[in-house]
Amino acid sequence: MRIYTDPHALQAEALARRARGERVGFVPTMGFLHAGHRSLMELARPRCDWLVVSIFVNPLQFGPSEDLSRYPRDPEGDAALCAAAGVDALLLPPTLYDADHSTTVEVGGPSEGLCGASRPGHFAGVATVVARLFGLVQPSFAVFGEKDYQQLAVIRRLTRDLALPVEIVGGPLVRDTDGVALSSRNAYLSPDERQRARTLSAGLFALQAAAAAGERRAEVLLSTAAARFAVDRLDYLELRAADTLAPLATLDRPARALVAAFVGRTRLLDNVPVEPA
Ligand code: AMP
Repeated sequence: MRIYTDPHALQAEALARRARGERVGFVPTMGFLHAGHRSLMELARPRCDWLVVSIFVNPLQFGPSEDLSRYPRDPEGDAALCAAAGVDALLLPPTLYDADHSTTVEVGGPSEGLCGASRPGHFAGVATVVARLFGLVQPSFAVFGEKDYQQLAVIRRLTRDLALPVEIVGGPLVRDTDGVALSSRNAYLSPDERQRARTLSAGLFALQAAAAAGERRAEVLLSTAAARFAVDRLDYLELRAADTLAPLATLDRPARALVAAFVGRTRLLDNVPVEPA
């Protein structure tokens, strides 16, 4: 595995490989890698000739009062995980932007509501960094996790609207053995908070079970989940159409239940598929 700190050196290599007809696979991350990230690399590995992973904690997607400065980092551990997963190139840039970077990519549609409502500017920061990374890495396809379900929808829309020649592949959400969705931010949780974090997935699983038993009213399904939550502040809990993310009052098509909540100071996300019975 080769480590690149200069994004333009990686771009030169990517362009040469694409010109030779190679398939370039790409998994963008913010590091502090875990089995969820690794599953995306394993999904990508057999589908490409050259697999690139990037680690960059993108300041553009953090709000002024968010955790940019304390976001967990472990470059050595991350490099070892990538090498073990068969990654060919690891991009670890000190920065990705020129000092006078002046372009922002704003995606409407799926950016609205959910995390878009509680984190103003977040998805513009995500779309801007992803567009720049696509230009640098020249991927044939890129893999994003369903853990960040709205982000995946935003990136699909960005790629379609700007006609970027990159296939977007979604990878399933990976959970710990106790049901908690794996996240770099789980490192912030105290033992008590970790116990309470489990109630998010427990609530969502109860919602899935109620749907499987025939309940179709979104209000009832959502209160089934919320009754289990032992969180400090619920940011949102919603039932949305799985494809368009349109809000649903009735479970009459494939859907997704999505939650964001604070446990202590840590904001956690989770989501599950919900099918009409
Ligand atoms: P992050 O480092 O949090 O920006 O995540 C990088 C990529 O890994 C994103 O596409 C995430 O959706 C994905 N990811 C993070 N956690 C998980 C998980 N538990 N399961 C699947 N994908 C994940």
